[in-house]
Amino acid sequence: MKFYVRTYGCQMNVADSNEMSRHLKAEGLVETQDPDEASVMLVNTCTVRQHAEDRAFSEIGRLKRWKAKRAGRKVVVTGCAAERTKEYLEDRFPFVDLVVGAKSIEDFAQVAHRLLDRRETDEELDYAIPAVDDKVAAFVTIMRGCNYSCTYCIVPYVRGREIYHSVEQILGEVRDRVREGAREITLLGQTVNSYRHGQHRFADLLERVSAVDGVDRVRFISPHPYYMTDRVIETMAAVPQVCESLHLPVQSGSNTMLKAMARNYTREQYVAQIEKMRRAMPGMTLSTDIIVGFPGETEEDFDQTLSLIEELQFDWGFIFKYSTREGTPAAKLDSFPQELIEERHQRCLELVDRIALEKRSKLVGTLQDVLVEENNFGRTRTNYKVHVNGDGAPGQEVRVSIANAHRATLEAAL
Ligand code: SAM
Ligand code: SF4
Repeated sequence: MKFYVRTYGCQMNVADSNEMSRHLKAEGLVETQDPDEASVMLVNTCTVRQHAEDRAFSEIGRLKRWKAKRAGRKVVVTGCAAERTKEYLEDRFPFVDLVVGAKSIEDFAQVAHRLLDRRETDEELDYAIPAVDDKVAAFVTIMRGCNYSCTYCIVPYVRGREIYHSVEQILGEVRDRVREGAREITLLGQTVNSYRHGQHRFADLLERVSAVDGVDRVRFISPHPYYMTDRVIETMAAVPQVCESLHLPVQSGSNTMLKAMARNYTREQYVAQIEKMRRAMPGMTLSTDIIVGFPGETEEDFDQTLSLIEELQFDWGFIFKYSTREGTPAAKLDSFPQELIEERHQRCLELVDRIALEKRSKLVGTLQDVLVEENNFGRTRTNYKVHVNGDGAPGQEVRVSIANAHRATLEAAL
């Protein structure tokens, strides 16, 4: 029996999908990249922005026909939108067999087992395929949930309070991934650097994961500026496996907006941290998330976001249009007309893209160590994606010269 997974949203969701896939494989299922071949369709949803939720819902709607084409097919809907709208989903899409909210993903092993108890009806079982995940770059979730309450964000409502995996559990998972072929590990959590378990803090975990035999590179996502302590910065700089690249969401360059968003840091504190990190790790790349059009954002507030981008020269960034999420504190505030949000989004994107291109262009002619992942693609330690033109097999690190940096994916010279 084959299954197909469609994932919406962030890396956290990709990691959850990988975890659920492993459970399905342990039940004897085989993953396919072709929905027509599949008997089980897993849709892992996101609800961070309305747009992501809408896309997932229209995909689920289309699955009615997919399901009707072959007897015994099953549709499973998981993730944050499933958590937020479980009853609505069950009413609107009665053909869905199972809805598993984001808070229950840890229990997916039992859920998968229950779902597939009905598998005698299907003749295509294939137990011969081992449950391996052969990715060179693997995600390992170290914590779930979020204790913050950024006023725009639905995540704490759909994922709950923070829970941390133990160091032993995390190291066990890292070793499993390495055994399956991983060379690079990305540690995941909503505020990943707030990790604590017993005496262990995030910096300890960075050291321990980096020391696992076979781990060549370590990354993490998404850190929160508040927990970017000196010790974390020193550890990043000192441990060779930790890559010189940081995605540190700032959200806005205006202190008024940061306060209204309840982000728990000021622009000045954020800038000071980046300066410290750049001193400790020269050559490090820096990326960020920004929200434009948050309720009450004046033209001056928006200008401060643009000036922060100019000041810090982010290597790349994700610019989000503010999306009202029902139940969050910001949903009670008057939101801006969509045209204004669109217009600010466009201006912000243009600036970020211009700087990103300038920075990438400087890489042309340089030699970069690329860890090859698959299909001729790999990444530099600084997290640029590079098309390697057939140099090296997956899992190998190759030194290439960059010939073209016009697009976000760099081209290595032939
Ligand atoms: N936990 C991470 C943090 O605090 O930086 C981010 C997790 S969130 C899933 C990813 C990004 O989505 C956020 O950094 C923010 O920029 C964006 N986001 C969250 N809620 C949003 C909303 N209501 N509207 C627009 N963007 C939003
Ligand atoms: Fe959402 Fe803020 Fe938690 Fe990030 S830190 S998940 S933006 S509440």
